[in-house]
Amino acid sequence: MAASLVFRLHDRGPEVVREVLLERGWKEYDQEKCEEEDWNLYWRGSAFRNSEYHNLLPWQRLNHHPKTVGITRKDCLARNLRRMRATFGSALYDFSPTAFILPNDYTRFLSEYNKLRLTRGLSAYWICKPVDLSRGRGIFIFEDIKDLVYDCSVIVQKYVSNPLLISGYKFDLRIYACVKSFHPLTVYVHQEGLVRFATEKYNLSSLHNLYAHLTNTSINKFGPFYKTEKERVGQGCKWTMSKFRHFLHSQDINELLLWQRINSIVTLTLLTIAPSVPSCPNCVELFGFDILIDVKFKPWLLEVNYSPALTLDCQADITVKKGLIGDLIDLMNYTLIDSLREKAYQRRGYTQPCFHANHPSHVSIPVLSKFKETKFQKRRTGSPSPQTLPLIKTLEKMNQRQSRQHAFVADYQRHLPPVDLDETHASRGRIVDTTANKTRTDRKTLNLILSPHSRTKVSVVNRQTCPALAPWLADNRSPHVSGVTDHDDTEIEAEMELARETDVSSSIRDIPHRGLGFRRSKLPNIYSGSHRPVKMERTTALNRQHIPPLRVGDFIRTFPFNTATLRASQHELDVKIVIQELHRVTAQLATSGRKLRREEEELKKDGEEDFDSLLWGPKEPPLLSQFFKPT
Ligand code: ADP
Repeated sequence: MAASLVFRLHDRGPEVVREVLLERGWKEYDQEKCEEEDWNLYWRGSAFRNSEYHNLLPWQRLNHHPKTVGITRKDCLARNLRRMRATFGSALYDFSPTAFILPNDYTRFLSEYNKLRLTRGLSAYWICKPVDLSRGRGIFIFEDIKDLVYDCSVIVQKYVSNPLLISGYKFDLRIYACVKSFHPLTVYVHQEGLVRFATEKYNLSSLHNLYAHLTNTSINKFGPFYKTEKERVGQGCKWTMSKFRHFLHSQDINELLLWQRINSIVTLTLLTIAPSVPSCPNCVELFGFDILIDVKFKPWLLEVNYSPALTLDCQADITVKKGLIGDLIDLMNYTLIDSLREKAYQRRGYTQPCFHANHPSHVSIPVLSKFKETKFQKRRTGSPSPQTLPLIKTLEKMNQRQSRQHAFVADYQRHLPPVDLDETHASRGRIVDTTANKTRTDRKTLNLILSPHSRTKVSVVNRQTCPALAPWLADNRSPHVSGVTDHDDTEIEAEMELARETDVSSSIRDIPHRGLGFRRSKLPNIYSGSHRPVKMERTTALNRQHIPPLRVGDFIRTFPFNTATLRASQHELDVKIVIQELHRVTAQLATSGRKLRREEEELKKDGEEDFDSLLWGPKEPPLLSQFFKPT
C-alpha cells in the first residue's frame, strides 16, 4: 500500500493551497493522528524557525528559504539595492525609487528633499511606509516635509507621480517569482500574474485619497467604488495578466522589452541576497514582486512580498492563484506517492506512515504500533502514580520522537557522501572523503543557517542528502558517491534504492501547461533528483550539467537564461557575469524591436543549441535565441 503525500498548513491556511493539494489527492496533516515527521510539505505564511530547517527530513519541504528578509523587508531591500547600486552602477540598479530609511537617513533625506525643492519647486512627491507593515497599512503620501510624521521605523521613497493609467486609474503588477533553489540560483516567473487597480481616478491634488493612490486590494475592496463598473477597468480592482496583455497590444510599445525589464528586475533583486542565503535544498519560495509602470513604460520595483496574499477575493484571483499553486506543486516535482517516507518508517520499525492512498476511506493508520505496545506494557508492568502518568507519557513520547529523528538522520548521514561547503560555492565536483572533513564542513554549512553556537543535525541543509535538491545536478552526484571510501557499498545501494523510489521522471513526463504555450513538444522532461542516471534529452544537458526545465505549467525559467549564466551560477555565483549578461540581453532587446528570427530558428531546430530560454512575458513566449545570434 502506498503512502499518500501529506501537507501541513500553519494556522489552517491558505485555503487555496489546501484546495489544490486535496484535489491532487494529497492528505492534510492531522496533529492528533500523525507523527510529527509524517508530512511532505509544510506551508507557512510566517518564517520558519532555525530548528525547523534543522530537523527537516529528506522527504520534507518548506515553502520558505532561510534568510530572505534582505529583500522582503522594505528597509533591508532599500539598503541592499543601495549597496548593489554602489557596486554595479546606477545604470542597472535604477529600477527602484530612491529611498531613505528613517530616522537613520534623515539628514540625507533632508538634503535630497531640499535639492529637489530648489530644482522643481513643490512638484516632488514622497511616500512614507512603515518598514515592517504590509497591505498598505500606515502609508501616506506627502509633498511638504512638514507633513512627514512618523513614530516607527519607516522608509521614505520618491513617489512615482507619473504612473501609467488605464482610463485614469492607477495600477500595479503583482508578479509571482519562484526561487526553486538559491544554490545554484534557479528562478521561475509565472506568466499569469495580477494587475491591481486603485478604485478612484488618479489625482495629485488629493494626496490623502488612498483609493486613488494605493493599489492594494486590502484597501480598495473597502472603497466606495469597488463594486462600481469603472470605465475600461470594470468592477472590482483586479485583472489577470492575460487581460493586461490585451491592453498592451493596443498600445504602441515594445512589449517584449517591457517584459524583459521586469524580468531583469526580478533577477537583479534576487542577486542582492543570493550569495548570502544558506543552501537549503528542501526549500522553495514564492515571492510577490510589486511593479509599477510609469507613463514612459519604465517598470519600477515597489516591494517584494514574503508570502504574497493567496486569498480569493474575485474571479481573477481564482483563475490566477489556483493555477499558480498548481504549477508551484508541479515545479516541486513530487512523486505521486511517497515511498521514501514510507520505507524510512518501515526501516525504523514503524508500521506505516500516517496516510495511505488506496486505503478504504483514507482513514489514518496508527503509525507507531511498536511504540504504543511498549507504552502499553509499561503501563501494565510499572506502577506510576495516576498523577505522574500524563507526564511520563509526554516524556516518553518526546524521547521516542527525538530518538526516532536522530535515527532517521543518522541513517541518512551514514549513507551520504561527505559535504564540503566549499563545494557548494566553489568546487562542486571535487571528492572530499575524510570523516574529519565531513564533520567540519557539515558544521560550516549549518552555521550559515544557525547562530555559531547552535548544535544540530546535518541532514537538513546537506544538498546531497535530499532528492529534492537541484535535480539537474543528479549526475554530478555519482562521482561523489563512488568516491566515498568509508561507506559500506550495500548501504549505499540501499540508499540509492530509496532515492530511486522518488524518481518520477517517467510519471510526470508531460506536465501540461495551460494556454497556448510554445513548442511544447520540444520542452525537456521534468525529472527528480534521484541518484539514478536519468536519460537526458539533448536540450537538457550542457557539458554534463543538467539544465532545469524551461517551463512547468505557466512557470517560465528565467534564471539561468543562457549558457553564460548557467556556468556563472553552477559554482560560486558570479554576480558580475550575470549582470553583464542581463545587461546585454536587455540592450539587444531594446534595439531589436519586435521582429523575431523565426525562420532562422526553424532552420536550426535540430541544431547546435544546447541551452535556451523562453522570453518571459508574452503569452506565447518566444525563445531568446530567436532574437540573438549566439555570441
Ligand atoms: P505594502 O507592503 O503596504 O503593500 P507597498 O510598498 O507595496 O506597501 O505600497 C503600497 C502601494 O502604494 C503600492 O501598491 C502602490 O500602489 C503604492 N506605492 C508604493 N510605493 C510607491 C511609489 N514609490 N510610487 C508610487 N506608488 C507607490
